Amino acid sequence: VVTTTGVFYYVTQKDRHPGSQLPFDPTKKNIVVLGSGWGSTSFLKNVDTSDYNIIVISPRNFFLFTPLLPSVAVGTLSPRSILQPIRYMTRHKERQVTVIEAEAKSVDPIAKTVTFADETEVQGEVSSTTIHFDYLVYGVGAETQTFGIPGVKEHACFMKEIQDAEKMKRRFMDCVESAGFPGQSPEEVKRLLHMVVVGGGPTGIEVSGELHDFLEDDLKSWYPELSDHIKITLVEALPSVLPMFSKELIKYTESTFKESKIDILTATMVKEIKDKSVVLQMPDKTIQEVPVGMVVWAGGNKARDVSVDLMSKLPDAQKNKRGITVDEHLRMAGTDGTIFALGDCTSSSYAPTAQVASQQGAYLARLFSQIAKRDRLADELAQAKAEGRDTPALQKQVEKAENLRPFHYSHQGSLAYIGSEKAIADLVFFNQKIATGGVATYLFWRSAYISTLFSLRNRVLVANDWLKVKLFGRDLAR
Ligand code: NAD
Repeated sequence: VVTTTGVFYYVTQKDRHPGSQLPFDPTKKNIVVLGSGWGSTSFLKNVDTSDYNIIVISPRNFFLFTPLLPSVAVGTLSPRSILQPIRYMTRHKERQVTVIEAEAKSVDPIAKTVTFADETEVQGEVSSTTIHFDYLVYGVGAETQTFGIPGVKEHACFMKEIQDAEKMKRRFMDCVESAGFPGQSPEEVKRLLHMVVVGGGPTGIEVSGELHDFLEDDLKSWYPELSDHIKITLVEALPSVLPMFSKELIKYTESTFKESKIDILTATMVKEIKDKSVVLQMPDKTIQEVPVGMVVWAGGNKARDVSVDLMSKLPDAQKNKRGITVDEHLRMAGTDGTIFALGDCTSSSYAPTAQVASQQGAYLARLFSQIAKRDRLADELAQAKAEGRDTPALQKQVEKAENLRPFHYSHQGSLAYIGSEKAIADLVFFNQKIATGGVATYLFWRSAYISTLFSLRNRVLVANDWLKVKLFGRDLAR
């Protein structure tokens, strides 16, 4: 009997649990995947598990849709809406994917092992171990670059992990509520409500834009006595913000920020962050100490310790300190070809973006299917030879399968939200470059992001949050 509930149950629950998937097969090769960011997730989404056992090791058991992180930081989106558990994502795979929540500590490229540790609050009897891999998909990403500037780690909010966005929201609201505390001096109100964003890359621009929206759309009506004192300053060391966008879009962003009363200080470098102030080196090299309530650090990324350690084991081939050097098949240089690296942990000619990492993940999934086919044909050929059979056709097929296709990046364009319901986009359309900004681009930004969200579940959650904000405004609770 088919009932609506039955159909709903079938659609939502089918293949949702490992019990209905093929188990781990000791006769198959093991692919160990490190990380659950853009690269690794795209690989997991696309990989065919029939030929391999897949083991994912990541310190978080979910994928985070990073482009919408600044929206979480101002309460437009709920944090849960942009997370997707890895187990949920791999529920439709033919074979069960093993997920281990742990941080990779070291990789031995010769012995082909990974050592990892469980660093969560709750640990069992075993919290560190080493496993062997046949293939390694290395996608650990990068960490926030602070250039050793004093006070950044202690006093600034970052914008990399979900906790960072939650922390920024709490910190921002704390500043606003403290400014409203009876008897606060006008100087203290001014300090508490001065928000400084460091870094004029896309992250810093999006955070500033979202902060401005929160101020305009919600704080003005809920805190009328304070809203005039809220000030947002964006500090960038280079002469211009958004160097990856075209000149006209940089100009458009600057003029939108001017209208939005967001101050942009270019050619200005943050030298130190203190408890209640930020020390700036101005364009004329003078030093100024500016009082602040909150600093958001979006100063770029650098290689993680585990990657630096891995590179140091292959000093002749891994000379680029920015990240892992790979060949055109994403094989780590200096290894026997069983370690593949992708995304922000690599150093390549492409910008370290989500777009590059996800294309690399999808490519690697295809490459592994090719490798499985190649190995199958090679086995058949060896068998035929052992039986004394002459098989020129099979020989040809093996030769063809050995020719693995290299990675090719197809740039779809760059997109960023700049606040005031405006977005900018440098797009490639039928091989033509288009630079566009404004409200239509904003609607495009929304639809592009919602369609890139990896699951229907997250699309529904994000769309629902957007609707909720339209109806009831942003959530002010800390
Ligand atoms: P970024 O490296 O692009 O920008 C960091 C900026 O901080 C730099 O311009 C740098 O000059 C500045 N900076 C560093 N130290 C400073 C200091 N002490 N004082 C003042 N300024 C300082 O970093 P990001 O914005 O986090 O982006 C990282 C990567 O992710 C980039 O490749 C970017 O393209 C990508 N990304 C893309 C999008 C998008 O397309 N919408 C959004 C976010 C990130």
